Amino acid sequence: MPRFATTLIGIAVLASSLAAQTPSERRVLIRAGRLIDVASDGAKADQGILITGDRITRVGPYAEVAASAGNAERVDLSRYTVLPGLIDAHTHVFLDGTVYADQVLKQSIPYRTIQAVTAAKAALDYGFTTIRDLETEGAMYADVDVKTAIERGVIPGPRMLVATRALAPTGMYPLTGYSWEIEVPAGAQLVDGADNLRRAVREQVKFGADWIKLYADRNSYVGEDGRLRSWPNWTEEELKAIVDETKRLGKRVSAHATGWEGIDAALRAGVHSIEHGDGLTPDLIDRMIKQRVYWCPTVFVGARPLTGRPPIRATMAEFKRKALGEAVRRGMGDLIAFGTDAGGFAWTENPAQEFGYYVRYGMSPAQAIRTATTNAARLLGVEADVGTVAAGKFADLVAVDGDPLADPVALTRAKWVMKGGVAYERR
Ligand SMILES: [Zn+2]
Repeated sequence: MPRFATTLIGIAVLASSLAAQTPSERRVLIRAGRLIDVASDGAKADQGILITGDRITRVGPYAEVAASAGNAERVDLSRYTVLPGLIDAHTHVFLDGTVYADQVLKQSIPYRTIQAVTAAKAALDYGFTTIRDLETEGAMYADVDVKTAIERGVIPGPRMLVATRALAPTGMYPLTGYSWEIEVPAGAQLVDGADNLRRAVREQVKFGADWIKLYADRNSYVGEDGRLRSWPNWTEEELKAIVDETKRLGKRVSAHATGWEGIDAALRAGVHSIEHGDGLTPDLIDRMIKQRVYWCPTVFVGARPLTGRPPIRATMAEFKRKALGEAVRRGMGDLIAFGTDAGGFAWTENPAQEFGYYVRYGMSPAQAIRTATTNAARLLGVEADVGTVAAGKFADLVAVDGDPLADPVALTRAKWVMKGGVAYERR
């Protein structure tokens, strides 16, 4: 299981034996008005959370924890509900929600990186202390640089797992439709053939990819049988090569797939997560449960009110609504990981609006919270470090105004966020 890297600052602190009170020994006692226990569907009133350095050391009734806290710094969150720092398992910090072609054609990678820095800060402000950023859409490996800058404390932002360039075959990912006389950039790395794909996976991992993302299909349409169908992108041999090489290098595979054919092909190849999954049918859902494959639904990006969308988008959103309800009914709840496609919409819109859709489509509020905590942590392989408020975990916490177990909209009201023992007040 990959664990998050210790920061360079942490190493420097360990090397200095002369400092009397180093940051790694800093102790903070938090008083939570209510603390959500993500495992039990409940909340406990007046809880204490003791933090030493970047980790939680004790959790329990406030009076008991306070008695052992000595001169720890106090943070009063008694007006709020505290829960584990949230995880968004499908973001794009290199997208800003505007016209895709304009971003890829008219913005330099340095400019896009500056925007990505502000997006990362926005994610943290919304309460997301961990994100899986699923490709840079033409900005090459700059996501690795943003991640590194955050880890070194150069800029504020969530813990990041990054997918770098993503993979698609020739002609099957934007930008397309331009004259053959003009060479235009592509939003993904375009690669054909099993051997070339193995090489591309090695290259992406070499330059820092934590995840390999592939585009399994395109052109979704409603078939005569009423299913949402699509055009698969790869041969079976190509898909197998990507997945096999990624697993050999100890990494995981995320597959964009919207229609039945794309999801089916990705599942046969053995991917770890299906992104979007609009066309999920009972047979595919049951296969995902059996194979323990996660689903990132990304509902908000497609379902939020917006004019001028092509009609197929509304159709797909409707398919996704039904698929989510069906998946919950069939017991897939613990394999649904919160993912929003943030960046596909502007970062000024709060991605936590996704929670409300999950509840409206069939989840309990507690189930919806688990998608962004324990479920997403397992998908990302970081469950030893994040996803619950417990001794030994990173001190990644969010305090919200209201009761998210009664009303998921409360999750859009993050008032205070802590990552690794460092607190960030919301503006
Ligand atoms: Zn996406």
